[in-house]
Amino acid sequence: MDEKDHLGEKIRLKERAEEDQYFARRDQELLAKLKQAQAAEQERTIRELARSRCPQCGERLSQRSIHGQTIQECLSCQGIWLDKSKLELVSRPKSEEWLEHFLEGLVRLVGHPKGG
Ligand SMILES: [Zn+2]
Repeated sequence: MDEKDHLGEKIRLKERAEEDQYFARRDQELLAKLKQAQAAEQERTIRELARSRCPQCGERLSQRSIHGQTIQECLSCQGIWLDKSKLELVSRPKSEEWLEHFLEGLVRLVGHPKGG
């Protein structure tokens, strides 16, 4: 191998190494993107699965109307889910009468689940 061929071979090897680095970097970036997309997709699926389910036991929540207020309840663990606005309504002093009716409704629901 003369000196010219030796130099040409060195250049080819250097180019090959740079190409390998480029593809390795590109593959890493694509894999990172894929992982991000998978994580986002998993998050969407988990949210979809958790929607309208009891945060305590995971059962489907049922909707029920008490004195014009819609609440969500869990028939499995007897948990009740309220909107913040309804909670604020309940905690206001002026809503004592409403609260009384609301609680009476709840007591009827919990105390007599067969509707008796
Ligand atoms: Zn539950």
